[in-house]
Amino acid sequence: MEFRYLGNSGLQISEITYGNWLTHGSQVENDVATACVHAALDCGITTFDTADVYANGAAEEVLGAALKGQRRESLEIFTKVYWPVGPAPLGKNDTGLSRKHMMEAIDSSLRRLGTDYVDLYQAHRYDSFTPLEETMQAFADIVRAGKALYIGVSEWAPDQIRQAHGLARQLGISLISSQPQYSMLWRIIEPEVVPVCRELGLSQIVWSPMAQGVLSGKYQPGQPPPAGSRATDEKGGANFVKRFMTDDVLTRVQQLRPIAEELDLTTAQLAIAWVLQNDNVAAALVGASRPEQVTENVKASGVRIPAELLSRVDGVLGDAVTTDPALVAKSTPTQRLL
Ligand code: NDP
Repeated sequence: MEFRYLGNSGLQISEITYGNWLTHGSQVENDVATACVHAALDCGITTFDTADVYANGAAEEVLGAALKGQRRESLEIFTKVYWPVGPAPLGKNDTGLSRKHMMEAIDSSLRRLGTDYVDLYQAHRYDSFTPLEETMQAFADIVRAGKALYIGVSEWAPDQIRQAHGLARQLGISLISSQPQYSMLWRIIEPEVVPVCRELGLSQIVWSPMAQGVLSGKYQPGQPPPAGSRATDEKGGANFVKRFMTDDVLTRVQQLRPIAEELDLTTAQLAIAWVLQNDNVAAALVGASRPEQVTENVKASGVRIPAELLSRVDGVLGDAVTTDPALVAKSTPTQRLL
């Protein structure tokens, strides 16, 4: 496993990071979830990403239990705050980036994870209904209380990142990461988010590098999805992955296989290695529903893809690739959620 620095900081993270969205506490039984986490540790993954909202807190609990007994100093544990979470009935303030919600949310996350601190605390989305100064002051107080070491954002637009970075500097805390979606098929961060982050000293930790499993090539055009795959997960996964499940995309993905084979990789490994070719990416944030997937996926660490093969990937995927940077701003919710 290779490691990269996260932004302009001294923190090193495993360039393949394990994430548990849709799996822990939901699609995957707890014993399999634990086996996946242990496979990740065995393969040299030290960095784990979750969020309070995943399975309404259960994902943090499952991850915390699976990591129990590990040496805390040898792990990097990341979580997030923003989306509504908590046992019903939810109150008006059980969401967003207000001081009240952030102060309560960090304590709930730490309790569920069974740890005294997280290494990275991330704003899961931008909150247009809370002054950014309030949010950044809350982050600073969380860091000063020792509950988080560094802070990050997820799916924020370049101007939002720039403003937050300026405030973080004034407050003396380190905003070092951006967590956007990024894959061969979804490249909207390249024109604007990446250059701004490079300038300000933030790295990307990219989610769904395999387009939720689609870039593994296991979904065949015109065929029903394999049993047990995300596309069959009626608890939520099927709905999220369907955006990539068109015959056009699935046909093109099949044509990536010979390119992967030239590098002695599976198509899944090629997809993960592809995001890691971007040196502003500190980690590919990879999910798994089975330990064997983790073992396969980590072999993408350290792979260098020659320029000629990168061009062939672009030729195969053609206009199935989404590149419009204007889509970045669409991730900011336009309404208060509660
Ligand atoms: P991926 O693109 O890595 O998809 C992972 C899924 O693909 C697995 O759960 C599995 O699903 C399938 N898969 C994994 N490996 C293989 C393989 N070798 N062969 C075939 N299928 C495989 O990422 P995710 O969409 O899971 O996202 C990863 C992480 O990113 C999340 O856990 C979370 O931490 C983060 N994230 C952050 C978001 C944000 O807003 N900040 C949003 C979404 C995710 P199956 O076997 O069920 O088909």
